[in-house]
Amino acid sequence: MMTQYEIVVGLETHIQLNTETKIFCSCKADSWGAEPNTNICPVCSGLPGVLPVLNAEAVQKAALLAAAMHAEINPVSYFDRKNYFYPDLPKGYQITQFDEPIGKGGYLDVHMPDGSTRRVHIHKLHLEEDAGKTKIEAGRRLVDFNRCGVPLVEMVTEPELHSGEEAAQYLTELRQLLRWIGVSEADMERGHLRCDANVSIREAGSTVLNTKTEIKNMNSIESIRQAITLEAQRQIAAVEAGERVESYTLDWDADTGTLRKMRSKETEADYRYFREPDLLPVKLSEEEIARIESSLPELPYARKMRFIAEYQLSAYDADILTSERSLADYFEETVRLSSAAPKTVSNWMMNDLLRLMNDLGKSASELRLRPAELAEIIDLVESGKISPATGKALLRKVEESGRKPSEIVTAEGLGLIGDEDALRSQIAAVLSESPSEVANFKAGKESLLGWFVGQVMRRTGGKADPKRTRELLLEILRK
Ligand SMILES: [Zn+2]
Repeated sequence: MMTQYEIVVGLETHIQLNTETKIFCSCKADSWGAEPNTNICPVCSGLPGVLPVLNAEAVQKAALLAAAMHAEINPVSYFDRKNYFYPDLPKGYQITQFDEPIGKGGYLDVHMPDGSTRRVHIHKLHLEEDAGKTKIEAGRRLVDFNRCGVPLVEMVTEPELHSGEEAAQYLTELRQLLRWIGVSEADMERGHLRCDANVSIREAGSTVLNTKTEIKNMNSIESIRQAITLEAQRQIAAVEAGERVESYTLDWDADTGTLRKMRSKETEADYRYFREPDLLPVKLSEEEIARIESSLPELPYARKMRFIAEYQLSAYDADILTSERSLADYFEETVRLSSAAPKTVSNWMMNDLLRLMNDLGKSASELRLRPAELAEIIDLVESGKISPATGKALLRKVEESGRKPSEIVTAEGLGLIGDEDALRSQIAAVLSESPSEVANFKAGKESLLGWFVGQVMRRTGGKADPKRTRELLLEILRK
């Protein structure tokens, strides 16, 4: 009988907080694209005789993230020195949190496409500073300290994921959550969200944790899915061939889709942690913790489920409308302001607003067309004052001009002709031009009604109210 294997995956993520300044100095936190070593000061470049000053915004954002992960916010946490030598670490140590971090426990529920849910527990959640970057150019190693001191939250999961697919879904939901609560831009390509994966295999049904390998440098969700799948297959093949899985670090090469062996792993004891003597303990009062916890917005999955229950949306629509918080807010505000059914508002957003956003490369919060204007357009269409086609065209006109929909309708004469006298005169003109069709209709060929409506539409450039036109035509022709 063939052995069945279970894949065991734990993820280690580094989340760059979107604070204004770095964690221990007043340099800008985000220096993406800046010239190397232009966003540094004596503190973050590790000159002797300087003291770090803790950025309160970083503490607030890390605590909010802990709350969103259902972790306990630690009322007193400490910073520690993690000692190691590397050219991108000018102090020779990294300031991080070791045994008393800001968050304790917590979990993220991962919702798989098949409807199942996997609860992934958090083993560690702490604040730390980022290191710099090195690169090899023309045979020389160059160092850029711009990234030194950027605030990070490191978050490590328990080994509770069981495929590349599940790991990818965890990252997808984590990225959505980080943006939702506004603590990180979570752009993986820019390194705002970095992920390493620990991968091992075991016989299905077993609970032992076998030797794991660590995969680094996966900078997209697709890379994570592929690299974990590939590494698990390699380990299974090795075990089947009677070999042992050895503990080492692998480097993912996205260009070739392959893994390369880097080095054997250090263990925690190699770092000789001790309390950072230059920083006070981080204290959060009961009131502050309560305030942070209560400031947490309704989270994406809960909001999606509420959209389905409260507005009778399909799971598909609710999923897309809650993909970003600004889009979900936009939807609910439009529903509140419009007299149309929520499903109608959802259709307008799913079909037309998302297309407009996509064409313009804007998020919902960046649009000039606000929920009030979208609600007005939907109501104009629903009440028969403008045609659906005019309504769709109005979205772009409002976005481009910033004018009110009703103003544009009046100025450009876009309103449907619902005025009875005006419609009657248009109908009279059509009937007098088509005596034989009128005779045929009166002889019983009532299917010509649609043709008459079409002629009135043509004469009015599509602006006749179709429902009212049909009613008046029947009244006149049946006399
Ligand atoms: Zn600095």
